[in-house]
Amino acid sequence: MKRSIYDEDHEAFRASVKEFLDRSVVPHVEQHAADKAIPREFWLEAGKQGFLGLEIPEEHGGAGADDYRFNAVLFEELNKVNAALGSCVGIHADITAPYLVELGTEEQKKRWLPGVAAGEILLAIGMTEPSGGSDLAALKTTAVRDGEHWVINGSKTFITNGYSADLVITAVRTSPEKKARGITLFAIPATAEGYSRGRKLDKVGQDESDTAELFFENVRLTDDDIVGELDGGFIHMMQKLPQERLGCAISNLAHARQILEETLVYAKERKAFGQGIGSFQHNKFLLAEQFTTVDVAQAYVDQCVIAHDAGELTPIDAAKAKWWTSQVQNDVLDHCVQIYGGYGFMNEYRVARAWRDARVSKIWAGSNEIMKELIGRDLGL
Ligand SMILES: Cc1cc2nc3c(=O)[nH]c(=O)nc-3n(C[C@H](O)[C@H](O)[C@H](O)COP(=O)(O)OP(=O)(O)OC[C@H]3O[C@@H](n4cnc5c(N)ncnc54)[C@H](O)[C@@H]3O)c2cc1C
Repeated sequence: MKRSIYDEDHEAFRASVKEFLDRSVVPHVEQHAADKAIPREFWLEAGKQGFLGLEIPEEHGGAGADDYRFNAVLFEELNKVNAALGSCVGIHADITAPYLVELGTEEQKKRWLPGVAAGEILLAIGMTEPSGGSDLAALKTTAVRDGEHWVINGSKTFITNGYSADLVITAVRTSPEKKARGITLFAIPATAEGYSRGRKLDKVGQDESDTAELFFENVRLTDDDIVGELDGGFIHMMQKLPQERLGCAISNLAHARQILEETLVYAKERKAFGQGIGSFQHNKFLLAEQFTTVDVAQAYVDQCVIAHDAGELTPIDAAKAKWWTSQVQNDVLDHCVQIYGGYGFMNEYRVARAWRDARVSKIWAGSNEIMKELIGRDLGL
C-alpha cells in the first residue's frame, strides 16, 4: 500500500533534505556524539538551504510554507539519521519558532526571525525546572517589575539546545497569586547579564544534543521581550503543545522504522545453525509484527498530520499520537536489539544507540502518564 499523504512537491523536498543530510551530517555523526553538540556550521548550512524557517513568513527570511507536511518530511529524514538531530532541529524550528511567528510583535519578528531562519539565532524553550516538569503551572522562576524592567530569577533544566542557544523562550511567573494564569513567556537572550548555563548534561541517550541547565540571576528585560500576552503564557504553551507532540510522534515512528529496516537486513545476513536468523519462525513473526505495528501507527499519525493542516488536530489526538508512538518506538527498538544479539548491546552499533536515544520519548514533551491523564480526563474520568 502506497503512503498517500505526500505529493511530488513533498517528495522533491524530501530528496533535497536527504541529499543535504547525507553530505553535511552523516559523515560527522561520531564527532557530534563526542562533542555532545551539533556544530553551528550545520545550523548555518541548514538555514541556507531553507530548512529552518519552513513556517517563518517570507518577509522575515523563511519559506512561508502553509503545509505541515513539509515539516513532517523534514522530521522523518532527520530522524533517519539520528533521533537527536530530529529533536534539536525540532526544538528550534518546529516547537520554538512558532511562538515568535504566531505571538511575536512586528518588531520582535524583525528582530529575531531572519536570524532564526538563517540558523544564526539558535532557539530553545525553557519550561521545565529542577523542581518539576509535569506540573508546569507550579513553576518557580519569577519576573518582578522594577520600573521599566522585569527582573528575572530562577533556573530551568533539561533544556534541549540549552548549551548553545542564543535565545530562550522561557516560562516565568509574573503573578504569583494567579497560578497557571500568572505565567508569562519571555524571550531571554543568552547575552543578557545574569544569564548563565550549566554543563552539558550527561544523558543516557541522544548524545549529539546539548542539553543543559540554565540560570537567571537578576536578568533585566523589558515589556519588549515578552512573547504573547502578559500572564497568558500557560495558555500559549497549551495551544502550542499539540504541534510539539505531533512532531514527537512523527519522529518516533520515522526513527523506529529506519532501525527496523536496518534490522531486517541484518536478520537476513546473520547466520546461526546454518541459516539466516530471520528465517527462524520466531524472528520472522517478530519482524512481521513490528512492521505491522509501525505501519498501523503510521496511518494514525498521517491522519493527525492532515488534521493539523486543516486546523482540526485536538490536544487529545496529539496526546494519543505522542504516547502511542513513543511506546511503539521503544518496543520495536527493544526487539531490534534482541535480533542483533550481543552486537545489539555494543555502542558502536547504531541499533544500540537508537535504543538508548528512544527512551526519553516516553518522558519528554509531556510524559506518557500525563498524556494518558489528558485522555482520561477527556473521557470524563
Ligand atoms: C533529554 C531531555 C530533553 C528535554 N528537553 C526539554 C526542553 O527543551 N525544554 C523543557 O522545558 N523541558 C525539556 N525536558 C523536560 C521534560 O519535558 C520533563 O522531563 C518532563 O516533562 C517530565 O518532568 P520531570 O522530569 O520534572 O518529571 P516529574 O514531573 O517529576 O515526573 C516524574 C514522574 O511522575 C509522573 N507523574 C507526574 N505527574 C503525574 C500525574 N499527574 N499522574 C501520573 N504520573 C505523573 C511522570 O509521568 C514521571 O514518570 C527534557 C527532558 C529530557 C530528559
